[in-house]
This record gives sequence, structure tokens and C-alpha cells, in this order.
Amino acid sequence: MLLVVSGPSGVGKGTVIGRLLQRRPDMRKSVSCTTRPPRAGEREGEDYFFVSPQQFARMRRAGELLEWAVVHGDLLYGTPRGPVEQALADGQDIVLEIDYQGAQAVRRQLGDEAVLVFVAPPCWQALVDRLRGRNTESEEAVTKRIASAVTELSHMGMYDYIIVNDDIQQAADELEAIVVAERANVNRWDWRQLQQRLLSEAGE
Ligand code: ADP
Ligand code: 5GP
Repeated sequence: MLLVVSGPSGVGKGTVIGRLLQRRPDMRKSVSCTTRPPRAGEREGEDYFFVSPQQFARMRRAGELLEWAVVHGDLLYGTPRGPVEQALADGQDIVLEIDYQGAQAVRRQLGDEAVLVFVAPPCWQALVDRLRGRNTESEEAVTKRIASAVTELSHMGMYDYIIVNDDIQQAADELEAIVVAERANVNRWDWRQLQQRLLSEAGE
């Protein structure tokens, strides 16, 4: 399954996904490419692949990105295609933390194989406080993220699930519950083998 998690910057996507991956070490997170400079503490290849606009354009032209988008006005973000295709071929679940444009592109390409989850804040002020409280951006960058939050929120309706991240533990529980439910979805696994075995055991 390809799990897409979107929501405004600062809502807690990274935090909630981090909790999910701790509980479900069999899941993998896709590492995006971005032209944004690294924040203090961010690591190349772990948080993002930090690339120049020229490198990004080359990857895009070479078809190496599953999806890409301009976010926060002038920054480029994209999902490397290879690791996602490899994970899906290996039957491994992969999480993409991408914006609504990326979610739209993934839905167009993969249909219902992708599960789209939107993380919303309990109220607007909590979002602004978290964004500022994280203390990772300049005032100009915070202003741009607040502007993109409005656009991001206007696309909530296209998602399969919405999680309100008020209590972090509860939000992580809900995301895990979505994964568990989707894994049991009749369209996602080869239940015919199980059916055949059970019926043959029954002598049918
Ligand atoms: P995003 O990945 O969506 O940009 P982060 O995961 O970086 O957001 O979270 C933004 C800030 O909000 C971080 O400082 C994080 O610790 C904090 N945070 C996340 N979830 C909650 C929550 N439920 N309640 C309070 N603070 C939270
Ligand atoms: P930042 O990490 O700069 O705070 O925010 C990045 C924003 O861009 C988030 O809203 C995140 O969802 C989005 N984003 C991160 N990586 C990708 C990606 O690979 N593709 C797309 N479309 N959006 C991304």
C-alpha cells in the first residue's frame, strides 16, 4: 500500500508518521527531493535529498520523479520514483509525506492502490503556534507556509481519511488504525489462496 499523508506545514505530519514508523518498523518512508535548504539538524538522504534547481530539473526531465510540485511559492519538492516502485514490487508499505498536488498526481497514477490521509489541526491558532513554536523557519518562510496552509486546507475533501491532530498519541493511533483497516481490505490481498486452502481442508 502507498500511504499518502498531507496537511499544512506545522500540523504534525512528520511527528505522527514518526510514531507510526516506530510502531510499524515494516513500513518505509519515501525520502523526497527538495530545492529548499536544509534546516539545522536535517540530514541528507534521511529527511530529504537536498538538490539544486538544476539537479531537480534534470531528474524531472529524466522521468525519475513519481510526482513533483511547487510548494510554498517557489520551492520544488518531488518523490523519487525508484524506491516507491521497488517497495510496492516487494509488497512493502510505503509512506509519502507530500502536499495536495502530489496526492492528486499519485491518485491519478495509482488509483485506489494509494490511500490518502489528511492531517488537520484542531484549530487555526494551534497550527500557527506549532509552526512558530517549531522555530525552524524565518518569519518570511512562516508567512509563506501560513499562506500555503489555506490552500492545503481547501483540498481536504479529496482525501480518503481525515485525522485531527489534537492529541499526538490519538492521532498516531488513528493513522495506525487506517493502516490496519486498509491491510484487511478485500482488494489489497490475495484472499483467494486462503479461501482455496480453507475449502480444500473442508473437503470441498
Ligand atoms: P509537519 O511535519 O506537519 O510540518 P511537525 O511534525 O514538524 O509538522 O510538527 C510541527 C510542530 O508541532 C513540532 O514542534 C511538533 O513537535 C509539534 N506537534 C506535533 N503534533 C502536535 C500535537 N498534537 N500537539 C502539540 N504539538 C504538536
Ligand atoms: P517543509 O518540509 O518545507 O516544511 O514542507 C514541505 C511541504 O511540501 C509539506 O507540505 C510537504 O507535504 C510537501 N512535500 C514534501 N515533500 C514533497 C514531495 O515529494 N512532493 C510534494 N508534492 N510535496 C512534498
